[in-house]
This record gives sequence, structure tokens and C-alpha cells, in this order.
Amino acid sequence: MNTGCVFCKISEDKIQARKIYQSNDIIAFHDINPQAPVHVLVIPRRHIRNLLEADEQDASLIGRMLIVTTQIAKQLNIAESGYRIVINTNRNAGQSIDHLHIHLLGGRAMQWPPG
Ligand code: 5GP
Ligand code: ZN
Repeated sequence: MNTGCVFCKISEDKIQARKIYQSNDIIAFHDINPQAPVHVLVIPRRHIRNLLEADEQDASLIGRMLIVTTQIAKQLNIAESGYRIVINTNRNAGQSIDHLHIHLLGGRAMQWPPG
């Protein structure tokens, strides 16, 4: 637990969130400021700052995060129409929370290239 980290607090139920998935090492919840009809965040419970801080030993965890993301896309009925996953890393990408998270976005047409 990283004191002061909002996502660590959500993982430990110290801050409320609309959780839709929980396991021993991964959780998923609805984004507080959704950018699409479906906007879910999938995070590891362990505080990893971003992908730059992940290493070979995190390969299984990160792989399972992607599998969970896919399952949620199906569950929320955005799989057929299409969805986007985003992992912002550092300032230029717009990372505002320093706890690794996958954005799952869907329910509307997306622009390309992203802004
Ligand atoms: P980033 O900009 O770091 O890629 O994404 C952080 C995301 O976390 C943003 O989409 C933001 O709306 C979301 N967020 C920030 N604080 C909270 C919170 O307390 N609860 C929830 N559910 N989402 C949050
Ligand atoms: Zn954290």
C-alpha cells in the first residue's frame, strides 16, 4: 500500500468505487469521470507506478489484467461493437494517477489518432 495513492485506497476499500471485479491481486471499477458510455479501470492491487516499473516477474499479472479486461468488455456488451484499451505512461501520455491502470473504453465510436 502506497499511502496517499487513491487506487491503493480503492483496493483496500478506504475510498468507495463502483467495483465490478475483484480477485486477490486485480480489481476493476468504473471511472469516476467517464470518457465513454463504458469506462472501466483495471488495476493490480499491488502499487506498481506504471509499465516502466513492471518487470518480467509481473508478466503473468499484466497478462491476467488483459484477460480480465476482455471478460469485462464482453460482460458489459461492448465486445461486438468494439472497444479500446489504453495504458497512459508518464506526463506526455496524460498519466495522472501513479498506480498502473488499464482504461477500458467503449459504447461509442473512437477517433484515431487519439488526441
Ligand atoms: P490517467 O489519467 O492516470 O491515465 O487515468 C486516471 C483515471 O482515474 C482518470 O480517468 C480519472 O477519472 C480516474 N480517477 C481518478 N480518481 C478516481 C477516483 O477516486 N475514483 C475513480 N473511480 N476513478 C478515479
Ligand atoms: Zn497505489
